Amino acid sequence: MVKFNHNPCESTRITAKFGYNNDYLNDNFHNGLDIGPLIPGVEGDSIYAVNDGIIRFIKLGSPSAGNYAVLECKDYTIRYLHMQSITSKIMEVIKAGEIIGYMGSTGICTGPHLHIEVKTCKFDDKDYWLKNSDGKYIKAINPEDLLLKEHWAEKHWISLNEKGIKINEKRFDDPMTRGEVFALLDRAVHN
Ligand SMILES: [Zn+2]
Repeated sequence: MVKFNHNPCESTRITAKFGYNNDYLNDNFHNGLDIGPLIPGVEGDSIYAVNDGIIRFIKLGSPSAGNYAVLECKDYTIRYLHMQSITSKIMEVIKAGEIIGYMGSTGICTGPHLHIEVKTCKFDDKDYWLKNSDGKYIKAINPEDLLLKEHWAEKHWISLNEKGIKINEKRFDDPMTRGEVFALLDRAVHN
């Protein structure tokens, strides 16, 4: 698979991996990769196009995914979830590295982060929204395999605290108990 031409954000803190994350929101398959912001808990990091493409879809206010944008590239289609705001327009042609919008915590989140999904089909493909019984999108692949890791390794797990001092980070920016997460899920279902 063709690597990204530009990473989706500056931060390199992966807060939840692709696949089964039993300590995550639920026991279903995690179809994307979660990346926390440069400063844990602070929204507004730039979100970039990972390759040349076209913005095929924008949805604001999805109960689970929040504000999201779909970027269709030559080799794959990217979905960016939980955004604070989206500056791109629908059907806009965009180059790798251009800003699509800003990192947020819309939809169901334990804190500000980007959830990025990569699917190996076009947005109009009938398989785009199709899932296996375990909840995995049949066309989803691990975004981590496409990251430009040479720009990634050095900063990995390192963040600045509110005073600009480097701190080491573990998973999850603003951990919630399972009870709090389920309360959020419950609220989303009833909204
Ligand atoms: Zn996620």
